[in-house]
Amino acid sequence: MDCIFCKILENEIPSYKIYEDENVFAFLDITQGTKGHTLIIPKRHVANYFDLYQPELNAIHNLLNKQRDQIIALDPTITGFNVGVNEGTSAGQTIFHAHIHLIPRRKGDVEDPRGGVRGVIPSKQKYEKK
Ligand code: AMP
Ligand code: ZN
Repeated sequence: MDCIFCKILENEIPSYKIYEDENVFAFLDITQGTKGHTLIIPKRHVANYFDLYQPELNAIHNLLNKQRDQIIALDPTITGFNVGVNEGTSAGQTIFHAHIHLIPRRKGDVEDPRGGVRGVIPSKQKYEKK
């Protein structure tokens, strides 16, 4: 199968592996959005997050929590996270093996972080509280 993430799982492509068990795998994103940007993937090849089975979702959720704790312990400058899924080409997905982005954030890493993931539509990131 011509899937970069499956090739990483098979050790055909190198990666900076962080964690692995029977269901899930975590590794550093090759293009770090911020330092520590981590991808969490199911081992089963599934293109879309919404097609994951509940045991995979549970394993991903547990690993997100574990990674969050570990990243914070290693780097006390981290003061927040963005957690995100790009589901489908129109939403920005480029690799069609489901994955969750865990992106550490630090105070001041952008001038005005308000709106966070709303920034997928850049002109709509900021909003006025109603
Ligand atoms: P998405 O656009 O949500 O499908 O995200 C795909 C992510 O995979 C991007 O953030 C890429 O930087 C990352 N990526 C692509 N190739 C590799 C690789 N060989 N190792 C680690 N991350 C990768
Ligand atoms: Zn795959």
